[in-house]
Amino acid sequence: MSKIITRFAPSPSGFLHIGGARTALFNWLIAKNQGGKFLLRIEDTDRKRSTSEAVDAIFTGLNWLGINWDDEAYSQFERQKNHTIIANELLAKGKAYHCYCSPEELVDMREKARAQGSSRLYNGFWRDKDPLSAPSNIAPVVRLKVPLKGDTSFRDAIQGSVTVSNRTLDDMILIRADGTPTYMLAVVVDDHDMNISHVVRGDDHLTNTFRQIQIYKAMDWDLPIFAHMPLLHGADGGKLSKRHGALGVDAYREMGFLPEAVNNYLLRLGWSHGNDEIISQEDAIKWFDITNVGKSPARFDLDKLNNLNGHYIKKCDNKRLISLIQPEISKLLKTELSREVENRLKNGIENLKFRINNIRELIDNALIYCVNRPIKIEGKSNKILDRNGLNIIKKVRDKLVVLEPWTDENLTKEIHLLAEQSETGLGKIAQPLRSVLCGTMPAPGIFEVMKVLGKEETLGRIDDVL
Ligand code: GLU
Repeated sequence: MSKIITRFAPSPSGFLHIGGARTALFNWLIAKNQGGKFLLRIEDTDRKRSTSEAVDAIFTGLNWLGINWDDEAYSQFERQKNHTIIANELLAKGKAYHCYCSPEELVDMREKARAQGSSRLYNGFWRDKDPLSAPSNIAPVVRLKVPLKGDTSFRDAIQGSVTVSNRTLDDMILIRADGTPTYMLAVVVDDHDMNISHVVRGDDHLTNTFRQIQIYKAMDWDLPIFAHMPLLHGADGGKLSKRHGALGVDAYREMGFLPEAVNNYLLRLGWSHGNDEIISQEDAIKWFDITNVGKSPARFDLDKLNNLNGHYIKKCDNKRLISLIQPEISKLLKTELSREVENRLKNGIENLKFRINNIRELIDNALIYCVNRPIKIEGKSNKILDRNGLNIIKKVRDKLVVLEPWTDENLTKEIHLLAEQSETGLGKIAQPLRSVLCGTMPAPGIFEVMKVLGKEETLGRIDDVL
């Protein structure tokens, strides 16, 4: 079997679309699974949209997801010469021809076709005409001679066998009047030149594929394996769009998702391996098979992604988590974090990560260890600190001042002892203590908070209130 080569061929749009990321991932997995290559081709022929920022956004998104490509990224625009060469070859073989129709003639033709209910909008006017009769004032386009009769069929790795009648296809344009190649031609020439074995893309391209196959046939080129993936839909069943939420991969990063969670989620959208929900990258590579992708659209569900993210955060190395949240916390507090705060984060992170499902929540929950004294105590947490509450805090202080060493065990013992001695429940002590140490910030259990804050900071926060 010839070498497996897949590709991802995004048109720059300003961000890496989450659906595009899924297409990229599936192509990458096929290549990895088969020991093949995965190529990236930027379809940058629309020069206005193809700014370097828009192209970089694709690189950044793929890099973040860890979807690495072989070779340098290809630029479709830079390959225009190759596209033109093939158009000329088709002309020379008599498989393509110059068409000199004026825009008005084309409008007229289209209207007639529509009135007759035909989807063949160009009637082949110049197909067999003598070029000598061409008007001199019209720059021609180059059109492909598409078979007039019969069907075009192929076996799609996801959709199964698909067919259209050739009567529905018209002689499509390969080269525009300004000499630039069309997308239809460029894609086929590029896929052929890059030896692509599998063309895996969204099923919105299925109708294009029937047309592109005509170019393969006219050139006597072997067809690649085609696989058209159902598009992503939102939770309400409609095609995924802005109204469903974020579309760019960068936005998911911003929202606090880990790339491994996004990958795992995208993988499970429309592809399954038994009932496995959590699939490591290693297993994904081992198990992935494009023929197991379902035919119906997959619904994007943020809650599921959030759950998976929670799983990956719990598994995540603490150092990496700290490196992710530290700059964000610094930004929020508008200050560099002190050595002491960094230490608290190191000590507190293991417990914090079990309380949250995404990095944004982790940041919110870590603030308790990072804010400067005196901390803000407002609303309900202030109300708890009435005379009674403050009395309890004084007693707590007396116990803590002499506590040595400052361990989880000792803290638990002393506070429980105090509850017994003052004949109150533990809750009556924990509540005001929580107000004093945490204000309204989300926080773990009070013993964990004291342990991580350390003696000095704990007493400091108490004294601020007293
Ligand atoms: N550039 C096309 C797009 O972004 C994809 C072309 C293809 O995969 O063949 O939709």
